[in-house]
Amino acid sequence: MTRIYLDHNATTPTHPEVVKAMLPYYEKIYGNASSIHQFGQEARKAVDEAREKVASFIGAKPEEIVFTSGGTEADNFAIKGVAYKNEKKGRDPLNRACSGSGHIITSSIEHHAVLNPCKYLEEKGFKVTYLPVNEYGVVNLADINKAIISETILITIMHANNEVGTIEPIEEIGKMAKEKGIIFHTDAVQSVGKLKVNAGELNVDLLSLSGHKIYGPKGIGALYIRKGTKIEPLILGGHHERNKRAGTENVPGIVGFGRAIEIASQDMQKENKKIVNLRDKLWNGLRQKIDSIQLNGHPEKRTPNTLNVSFKFIEGESIILNLDLQGVAVSSGSACTSGLLESSHVLKAMGVDPATAQGSVRFSLGRDNTEEDIDYVLQVLPDIVSRLREMSPLYRKN
Ligand SMILES: *Cc1c(COP(=O)(O)O)cnc(C)c1O
Repeated sequence: MTRIYLDHNATTPTHPEVVKAMLPYYEKIYGNASSIHQFGQEARKAVDEAREKVASFIGAKPEEIVFTSGGTEADNFAIKGVAYKNEKKGRDPLNRACSGSGHIITSSIEHHAVLNPCKYLEEKGFKVTYLPVNEYGVVNLADINKAIISETILITIMHANNEVGTIEPIEEIGKMAKEKGIIFHTDAVQSVGKLKVNAGELNVDLLSLSGHKIYGPKGIGALYIRKGTKIEPLILGGHHERNKRAGTENVPGIVGFGRAIEIASQDMQKENKKIVNLRDKLWNGLRQKIDSIQLNGHPEKRTPNTLNVSFKFIEGESIILNLDLQGVAVSSGSACTSGLLESSHVLKAMGVDPATAQGSVRFSLGRDNTEEDIDYVLQVLPDIVSRLREMSPLYRKN
């Protein structure tokens, strides 16, 4: 039976080399990395080596990397940690009634791992500005400049968007934040392993990474914290991770993450070339075979593996279910919440009209995809779309 995976922005298969690297840390080297005996010291050494690999990939120092349970925790740590530590900035020391405890700038197309901590902080009295984006999903530098006030403590803007792949002008935003002395965080979960990600060049103070989006294991990630950045730990306990994140280290996960990032640094360029060709072959094929479709996201400035397409007059969910029946795994631009079809907040922010947004499908390719995979999708998808459109009262062939 055909099984084609085109949902790599949701998660990736674990690379066999990663699994191989992890296994000894379950079977033999199971010591607690904080223990002083040999079992512990071997685990410690593995954690240190993985930390160096992650650091070197983003041009950081090992001591600037804190391992977390994934991208979500890294985002929460960055946002809440900075908010809690810096809430008094900008407050008039004589005006005790001043309720403004700090201002955060983010965008309206962030992952929920960023948006929901921001919403939570709003409930706690912080002010948050959610910046708009243009039709391609790009934030405007002038908007950021305008949004900055004396109480602004944090700017958090993602490097690459998970739904449409659009790449944000992080370097320039970072420059602006630096000039104004504002801490700058980027969620780089979707760009690590796909684009060059150098913390120094991007001018960021904080950067989130995740293992399972780069062919590593699930449940491991990291937050890069530039030396000197004022941030409070969220998880308290022992003295792990230089007192920044307590808890016995996930040694196998950390080892796997280190191996995955090492493989990414070796293979990225070559893989990207192949993946971009397959993605563009898919888009060109769809354009030839199916009318009334539109590409969502920036035509060029987007991650090499991501293709978000709206098929007008029909529901993305129906396309996904039908593709799944044919063995093809893709994902929707819209999240199905409590039985209601809710449009994607990303497409909405880009100004895609709600009906068109409902018909969106995200194809996200990966290193194991082949020409045959794309040929197969181009063979089955046009029939699915025309069948669904025949049932749609809205459809008029133009
Ligand atoms: C997947 C993802 C996350 C969450 O990472 P987890 O490791 O799954 O918690 C955060 N941000 C973006 C952009 C993502 O794509």
